[in-house]
Amino acid sequence: MSTSLPFGNVFAAASVNLNSAGEDPVQAQPTGTTDETVHDVIIVGSGPAGYTAAIYTARANLSPIVFASSISPGGDLMTTTEVENFPGFINGIMGPELMGNLQAQAERFGADVHFEDVASLELESDVKTVTLTDGSVFQAKSVIISTGSEYRKLGVDGEERLSGHGVSWCATCDGFFFKEKALAVVGGGDSALEEALFLTSFASKVYIVHRRDTFRASEIMAQRAYDNPKIEILWDSEIAAIEGENKVEYATLRNTRTGVESRLDIEGVFVAIGSDPRTDLVKDKLELTAQGTIRVDGRSSRTSIPGVFAAGDVIDPTYRQAITAAGSGCAAAIDAQHYLESL
Ligand code: NAP
Repeated sequence: MSTSLPFGNVFAAASVNLNSAGEDPVQAQPTGTTDETVHDVIIVGSGPAGYTAAIYTARANLSPIVFASSISPGGDLMTTTEVENFPGFINGIMGPELMGNLQAQAERFGADVHFEDVASLELESDVKTVTLTDGSVFQAKSVIISTGSEYRKLGVDGEERLSGHGVSWCATCDGFFFKEKALAVVGGGDSALEEALFLTSFASKVYIVHRRDTFRASEIMAQRAYDNPKIEILWDSEIAAIEGENKVEYATLRNTRTGVESRLDIEGVFVAIGSDPRTDLVKDKLELTAQGTIRVDGRSSRTSIPGVFAAGDVIDPTYRQAITAAGSGCAAAIDAQHYLESL
C-alpha cells in the first residue's frame, strides 16, 4: 500500500477503519491474550477476496473472523478512484465505497472484522494458530489467506530516500499535494494510465514513462491517455534515478533502446508498475509457484496444507481483477465449508 505517509493517505484514512456501524475498530481481546475458542474459519486479508470469503462463510453460519489489517484494510481498492468494471454498478462505484459495502455485507451476516495485523501463522496441525502483532493468539480449524499483493518498486537511486517526499505509489492518496506541478507516472499498464488520468486533475503536466513503445493497458484506457492534453507519453524510457535533496526535483531518464540519458524536471514520481503477491506470512509454510503466488490445487483454493485455503491476488498471477478476486474468495469459502463438513 502507499508508503508515502508524510503526504497522508487521504482515502485509506477516510472510511473503512471502522466497523459498518461507524464504531471504533473492534478490539479482538485484551492485548497479548489467547482466545481459547477454536473457531471454524479465520480469514487473513480484507480485499474483495477476503470480504467475499467472509460473506459466504458467514452466510454458512461459520462465524468467520477477519483480520483486515490495521494499515491497509480493504486492500488496493481503497486507493482507487472509480471502479467502472465491477459488475452490477451501471455508473461505476468508488473503490472505498465498494470495499465499505463488502465489509458491511459481511458484518450483516455475522463476520467479525478486526483491524489487526497478523504476525505469524502455525498451519501444520489440525488446529491452526494465528498470532497478531500485539501477541494475541487465535485458533481455527481452517484459515483462508487473502493477503493480496504489494506494489512493485523501481529499485533505482532516490526512490526509497524520497518516498513520501515526491515518490508515491498512490495517486488517490497523494495527488492532491501536486497541484500545478509536473509529474511522472511510471508504467504502461491499466494502473499507470488510471493514475496518470487521475493526476491530470491536479498536475500541470503528467509524463507517462514507459519502457516499451506500446501500452499493456486496455485500449479504452490508452485512448483516454492519448486524448488528454495534459499527458505526454515518453515511450522507450525508464527512470534511471530520482534526484533531489529533500524532495523530488528531477529524474534521470534513460532511453531503453539507445541508452541515452536525459533530465526530466518533475516534482513527483508515481510508480505504477504492477504488484507482487504478499506471501511473507506463508512463504516458508505453503508451496508457492514459480511466479511467487501460493500454489493451489487446480481451480480450487486448496493449498499444500489441509484446512488452509488461499484466494485473490495472492494466488493469481494472471487476471488480478476485483471481480476475479471476489470469485476466488467465494471459492475459498465453499472449499473451507466442505473441508469443515468432512472433519
Ligand atoms: P500490469 O498490467 O502488470 O502492468 C505493469 C506495467 O508496468 C507494464 O506496462 C510493465 O511494462 C511496467 N513495468 C513492470 N516492471 C517495470 C519496471 N521494473 N520498470 C518499468 N516498468 C515496469 O500491472 P497493473 O497496471 O498494476 O495492472 C494489474 C492488473 O490490474 C491488470 O490485469 C490490469 O488490467 C488490472 N487493472 C485494471 C484496471 C481497470 O480496469 N480500470 C485498473 C488498474 C488495474 P511492460 O508492459 O513492458 O511489461
